[in-house]
Amino acid sequence: MLRTSTGDAPIDLSAPRRAPPGAGRPRSDDDDRAGLRRAGGAAKPGSAEVRVPKVGGDKSRGRLTLTNALEADAERIRSVAAFRRRVQRMSGNRGSNEPKEKLSREVVVPETITIQELANRMSERAVDVIRFLMKQGQMLKITDVVDADTAQLIAEDMGHTVRRVAEADVEEGLFNLPDDDGALSPRPAVVTIMGHVDHGKTSLLDAVRRTNVVSGEAGGITQHIGAYQVSTPSGARVTFIDTPGHAAFTQMRARGAKVTDIVVLVVAANDSVMPQTIEAINHAKAAKVPLIVAINKIDLPDARPERVKTDLIQHEIQVESLGGDVLEVELSAKTRLNIDKLLESIALQAELLNLTANPDRPAEGTVIEAKLDRGRGPVATVLVQRGTLRPGDIVVAGSEWGRVRALLGDTGATLKEAPPSMPVEVLGFNGTPEAGDRVAVVESEARAREITDYRVRQKRDIAAARGTSGAGRSLVDMMRDLKVSAGRKEFPLLVKGDVQGSVEAIVGALDKLGNDEVRSRVLLSGVGGINESDVTLAQASGAVVIGFNVRANKEAREAAERAGVEIRYYNIIYDLVDDVKAAMSGLLAPTRRETMLGTATMLEIFNITKVGKIAGCRVAEGTIERGQHVRLIRDNTVIHEGKLSTLKRFKDDVKEVQVGQECGMSFENYQDIRAGDVVECYRIEEIKRTL
Ligand code: GDP
Repeated sequence: MLRTSTGDAPIDLSAPRRAPPGAGRPRSDDDDRAGLRRAGGAAKPGSAEVRVPKVGGDKSRGRLTLTNALEADAERIRSVAAFRRRVQRMSGNRGSNEPKEKLSREVVVPETITIQELANRMSERAVDVIRFLMKQGQMLKITDVVDADTAQLIAEDMGHTVRRVAEADVEEGLFNLPDDDGALSPRPAVVTIMGHVDHGKTSLLDAVRRTNVVSGEAGGITQHIGAYQVSTPSGARVTFIDTPGHAAFTQMRARGAKVTDIVVLVVAANDSVMPQTIEAINHAKAAKVPLIVAINKIDLPDARPERVKTDLIQHEIQVESLGGDVLEVELSAKTRLNIDKLLESIALQAELLNLTANPDRPAEGTVIEAKLDRGRGPVATVLVQRGTLRPGDIVVAGSEWGRVRALLGDTGATLKEAPPSMPVEVLGFNGTPEAGDRVAVVESEARAREITDYRVRQKRDIAAARGTSGAGRSLVDMMRDLKVSAGRKEFPLLVKGDVQGSVEAIVGALDKLGNDEVRSRVLLSGVGGINESDVTLAQASGAVVIGFNVRANKEAREAAERAGVEIRYYNIIYDLVDDVKAAMSGLLAPTRRETMLGTATMLEIFNITKVGKIAGCRVAEGTIERGQHVRLIRDNTVIHEGKLSTLKRFKDDVKEVQVGQECGMSFENYQDIRAGDVVECYRIEEIKRTL
């Protein structure tokens, strides 16, 4: 036995050691050769000889003093580390898995992160992260990028907390800083014209501009950019933007740019409501932007404006002349009839909206279109939304920035400044931004660079992350499933009613239902019959459609049947709410309650060919029932849980056996039974929970 230098753990060194050659071999009696052996090992005398002169020198002696000193005692003491290694080896390498005081860290997770970086931030080994991902079916390398959701999942699984930094605080304060009410002044309304193809959008835009020019507005006639400002007869100004379609409109909205204040819906009086008209209505509704209906082409002999109005009701657009609140103008873009009236309606609607912005602040806006001009470089048409844009300002848009070289108005004239709602062409960007990018003026080039660098990086990382998770998708899927199973369940609904009041009451009542586990989510609510697009929406989100005092039209009924969407009709709100409550209760996980029935002790085990093992038991307490759950207990340890498959008394199958009686039992999918095992029989009741 020997004591280590630490002196606290005696170990036995008599067993063969596996120390490095030379370092830990028992001393030979020849001292000189010891140094030699140390260097090369006895097994290789040749090489050892070569090294003799080197190793045998004073220098190496100096290096060996410690060992020599220890060896001189004829007892060798290992280093503490070696000792620890040995202990680890002996205990089956448990050391590496030994919980080393696991530290839970707050891990800062940006939008995307490489596995290496994530591992570093968690102070975990990257291989552990990769192993975790492998278990989820994802094969990733240390340099691969994962998105924030995945990173969060990994970090939380490894016992860390996560702090997600949204858009790495670089962008903080760039947009939407609040203004004082006092600083706000009125601004022109921004109008988008939408409608079905060939219903006259372009002609109307044209007519508006020409009318305006004719009415004495200075400037050229040629439209310079995809947006322009006109004056209404009453003197208010209105900005028209020429978006390339509904999709672009909604896409811009999706990117956080609410550009339009009012949508003018062009419907040709000879054609009435067409698919793109409906689309436009939906887009405008989704954006919560008020509509003005322009019934175009009334100069045509087959124009039937009344039909347009009635058709629109189906899509919940009730125009003023039919008692609704949507302004409508019957006009002709071709003959420019009633264009003034349209402008007045816009002005009226704009007044209702009370549109304001603070002109005295750094400008903010949205890129409406952008192109690379041969002579002028990148040119972006920007709608200024707040503040005032001036030449010399440093602007950031998407991942591009620049110093404003010149501002050009809709007629091509150079401007000194662009106040809110003014569309301008901006020259001076270093690259071409994208339509829909939000524009902001920043205080310095450095800040502009910081933001754009970050965005470029982010774009690249997001693309990379999408690439990797796109391949397997399993993690993403898993996360979603996880959210579904662990998080709150949602009960999606579409509510249509006869009047706004009852719809609101229903939505209000439904909102109050629910608890931590389940809640209702009204995807869409509105007044009017249930139509096909409601059903499509319901299908897409797995929702139930509820009609309160309204019915589905034929197309909707058929679509619902095809898609398997449930439509329910009600005329009493309480019934409706009760039903939804009951349905939502179905989403609550039931509570399981266990009732003990009885116990039995196995006396003897019979092995019956073809049947398997049968336990001969005596019921110790209560009753044993066939088909119920059983638990097998051996030495107070549960060894199996399952079901009782047969229960016999003598030769007969019985349903239950009472206390004190003997019986034979066999178990579903379990054979390892022994005399002395205890059988516990219990019933599980699932208790439905209600809200
Ligand atoms: P867009 O596809 O919606 O932009 O429609 P356009 O503005 O290109 O117009 C489609 C067609 O309808 C063109 O041939 C126009 O001349 C015609 N059009 C537009 N407005 C009127 C109108 O008020 N009356 C008549 N008769 N034709 C019109």
